[in-house]
Amino acid sequence: MDAGIKPVLIVGAGPVGAVCALALQQQGIDAHVLEAQPADARADMRTLALSYGSRLILDRLGVWSALEGVTPITRIHISQRGALGMARLSADEIKVPALGYVLPYATLTAALNQALQDARISVEYGVAVERIESELDHARAHTSAGNTLTASLVVVADGGRGEAAPDPKISRDYDQMAVVCEVQTELPHANQAFERFTPEGPAALLPKDDRYALVWTASNADAERIAALPDAEFLTALYRHFGGRQGQFLSASPRKTFPLKLAYSGSEADARVVRIGNAAQTLHPVAGQGFNIGLRDAWELASRCGDTPVEALGSSAMLAAYARGRRVDVLGGVGFTDFLVRVFSNDIAPLRHARGLGLLALEAFPPLKSFVARRMIFGARG
Ligand SMILES: Cc1cc2nc3c(=O)[nH]c(=O)nc-3n(C[C@H](O)[C@H](O)[C@H](O)COP(=O)(O)OP(=O)(O)OC[C@H]3O[C@@H](n4cnc5c(N)ncnc54)[C@H](O)[C@@H]3O)c2cc1C
Repeated sequence: MDAGIKPVLIVGAGPVGAVCALALQQQGIDAHVLEAQPADARADMRTLALSYGSRLILDRLGVWSALEGVTPITRIHISQRGALGMARLSADEIKVPALGYVLPYATLTAALNQALQDARISVEYGVAVERIESELDHARAHTSAGNTLTASLVVVADGGRGEAAPDPKISRDYDQMAVVCEVQTELPHANQAFERFTPEGPAALLPKDDRYALVWTASNADAERIAALPDAEFLTALYRHFGGRQGQFLSASPRKTFPLKLAYSGSEADARVVRIGNAAQTLHPVAGQGFNIGLRDAWELASRCGDTPVEALGSSAMLAAYARGRRVDVLGGVGFTDFLVRVFSNDIAPLRHARGLGLLALEAFPPLKSFVARRMIFGARG
């Protein structure tokens, strides 16, 4: 390999890019990472729900034990408003320590950035990639700092927010936004999460420290209105929407909204370039799949690189094999998430009854429960 050509260049040090760099190092491959934001300006208010499968990945990278403020989810209660049918999942039944874990995005990225530093992986903060050019045997990334870096493989992990993001192969605008904030309920959460389907869209309560992280999905117009409600009116509206399973809602932190869409671009890009994480697929958060699929992308790509002779790193054969290996997991997650949003976000009577029967079947039939839970925790290989 030419001394000036890096083996792997990663665009973005979000969770997916950082996990990819750490996993590549475990495979003996040096990655160079470019991150658009400065190192000290990466505080972010998002809350993430990690699956148990993602925990195993972070464990193998030695990052899990460094995470503080992680709240396990040991039970999930699923219901639909105004109709019969409810299902409960528990970690004991699935024989895992937890169904998932809730933690702040900022906590995860801080721990991953520390791990990158401890591993002496070179990361340039405050440098954005503006353009990527592909050749047969390498790709060149032009940066905002006016530099050009050349690598055998450029991994785009920019969350799909780069200027050069392609038009997605599959896309759907759900005309929905998520209103997110933290809420205090009258009853303690006891590590139970709630997923409640309503005709306006799903709402989730995720246990976080001694409170809940709320993800309330509504149409674009309603979400802006709901987010702008004064505290007391917001809490009353939430009680009406969610019901009283956790008693009254006592307080709420400031609300934020974010748009929800499906955008599947796939991993395949130009020669020597691959997309992973949200850059390859952005999903509705209803099933908590998108982020976890992104971590599996990073892990599987690093394993594929490790299994590839150095002279074939980033070759079209390697990238095609990677894309083939990810297809079932990614498209399964995309299809499952899209199905849930579309089948549950309406008030059509036959569908309402079918949903109720589906939930009753899930509740009554342990093998089905185990199948669904393992699919959500481990992906297609569950
Ligand atoms: C506003 C918002 C709110 C969300 N809220 C939730 C939530 O409540 N719960 C949940 O589970 N999921 C949530 N998600 C989804 C979740 O954040 C993503 O699934 C996850 O962050 C994907 O990780 P990633 O590393 O692929 O992308 P990101 O986390 O987006 O990281 C991409 C990184 O690339 C950097 N970057 C971007 N462009 C460039 C460039 N040109 N050059 C160099 N670096 C670049 C960015 O600065 C960033 O650090 C939310 C997403 C968004 C956008």
